[in-house]
Amino acid sequence: MRFARCKTLENVSKTGKSIAIVGAGPAGLRAAGMLICMGHEVHVYDQMPEPGGLMIFGIPDYHVDTKSVREGVKELRELGVNFHNNVKVYGDGKGDKNLEELINEYDAVLIATGTWKSRKLNVPGENLKGVYVALDWLIDYYLYEKGYQPWDKVAPLGKRGLVIGGGLTAVDAAEVPLRYLKDKFGIEKVYLSYRRSRKEAPMKEREFNRLVEELHIEPLELTIPLEFKGEEKVEKVVLQRTRLVPVEKGRPKPIPIEGSEFEINVDYVMVAIGEIPSPPFENGCCGIEVESWGAIKTDEKFRTTRKGVFAAGDVKHGASLIGPAFKSGMDAAKYIDEYLKTSEW
Ligand SMILES: Cc1cc2nc3c(=O)[nH]c(=O)nc-3n(C[C@H](O)[C@H](O)[C@H](O)COP(=O)(O)OP(=O)(O)OC[C@H]3O[C@@H](n4cnc5c(N)ncnc54)[C@H](O)[C@@H]3O)c2cc1C
Repeated sequence: MRFARCKTLENVSKTGKSIAIVGAGPAGLRAAGMLICMGHEVHVYDQMPEPGGLMIFGIPDYHVDTKSVREGVKELRELGVNFHNNVKVYGDGKGDKNLEELINEYDAVLIATGTWKSRKLNVPGENLKGVYVALDWLIDYYLYEKGYQPWDKVAPLGKRGLVIGGGLTAVDAAEVPLRYLKDKFGIEKVYLSYRRSRKEAPMKEREFNRLVEELHIEPLELTIPLEFKGEEKVEKVVLQRTRLVPVEKGRPKPIPIEGSEFEINVDYVMVAIGEIPSPPFENGCCGIEVESWGAIKTDEKFRTTRKGVFAAGDVKHGASLIGPAFKSGMDAAKYIDEYLKTSEW
């Protein structure tokens, strides 16, 4: 996978300007690969032990090849991109590096921190042991699988699992344990609860069918969880059936059906109902405004409300795919270069 726009810097003259990129996912890496080839000094900060973002710590190898991501990062390093791994940049003094400091140290900053926060169900029992935020569980698994942490950091699964959601995270939360950990945890059955039908699922009907037909996942379409029950850990889930009501715009709305509640026995639950943008601050920082839904506010030139600070990728446009993140990083780099040349804001 190539992030760099050039093969060598032989004919590139140095501009003397420096940029800090926060987040080494596809958006940050692609921006780094553009900016280094424009003659700027580029520093990429990431909280994880290795660059790549969700391509390394969120998506299984059978979808995105780790080797090819690593080759792309190696090429960036050889071109002179400076990587600062294991550095959490944060605005509220909770990280390893303060965002305000970073903004003052560099000529421009690009925030590309993705969507590392997950939506909650807000139902009783959600904090019971064995009820996991799917993305957090997957990240822990990949940290183990890539040799960055011991096996005992991966939260245990069990015989019967329930995955809740209809997107890409739900696919992986169902499939990864079955592919790699079936025997280790003695997994016998995995249910998939989705509030609409497979036809409306963001993962697409074909993918839903594959999970059912190839992996024998038991679909529980048109259901929502009402409660998780258990003593020490989760043992049962109360689900309720829904019916779909057409709306003027968008997918039909699931409406709970009174009296349709039923229970299933489970040993673990993966909640995968969507990720939300995760800027590197919690309660606002540095004059950078966020939208009501959490994304960093930007204008058409990827500029935030703070001079010299740009945003790209999922933290700007919401949870999406690698392609749009790549494109976003590339576009942001163009506007950063323009700003560094003109100082116009
Ligand atoms: C489970 C799952 C499966 C997916 N499968 C696919 C798929 O098969 N195909 C596809 O095209 N897309 C898939 N996607 C979507 C895709 O991964 C994302 O759209 C894409 O990675 C977004 O790129 P990004 O660069 O914006 O952010 P990310 O890839 O999320 O990278 C953000 C980076 O920022 C770092 N970071 C965050 N906060 C801080 C901080 N405070 N300080 C320092 N570093 C920080 C993170 O460590 C991370 O490295 C999947 C997503 C998920 C969650």
